[in-house]
Amino acid sequence: MLKVEHIGIAVKDLAQSIPLFEKLLNTPCYKTESVASEQVTTAFFRQGDTKIELLESSSPEGVIAKFIDKKGEGMHHIAFEVADLEVEMQRLQNEGFTLLNPTPKLGADNKRICFLHPKGTNGVLIELCQEIKPGE
Ligand code: ZN
Repeated sequence: MLKVEHIGIAVKDLAQSIPLFEKLLNTPCYKTESVASEQVTTAFFRQGDTKIELLESSSPEGVIAKFIDKKGEGMHHIAFEVADLEVEMQRLQNEGFTLLNPTPKLGADNKRICFLHPKGTNGVLIELCQEIKPGE
């Protein structure tokens, strides 16, 4: 894996959390994006070489709404950038990790992504992501 690409934080209300994190990080939110397939709206902040991704559920049935119901707001996942998503997915599967999606899916911020089941990673939800290059 190349680096921590971003850290995902589940929030109830982006309208409140965006200005809060702008103050905290002293940097403006540079993008918000809805991912319909995940029933989530995201907001991104650059922090050095990595990013913070705030996640608000766009539906009471979405995974983020369910996460907040169970655990409250807070740390949701750590995303690692990889050079080749399929190769890394295969490697981790061979090592015994459970992939939550067997094929890559489209994520926010121009990425193809895959999640690992947190039961196999000490309770931490791990996202693998690879940037989609123009022409792909
Ligand atoms: Zn993420």
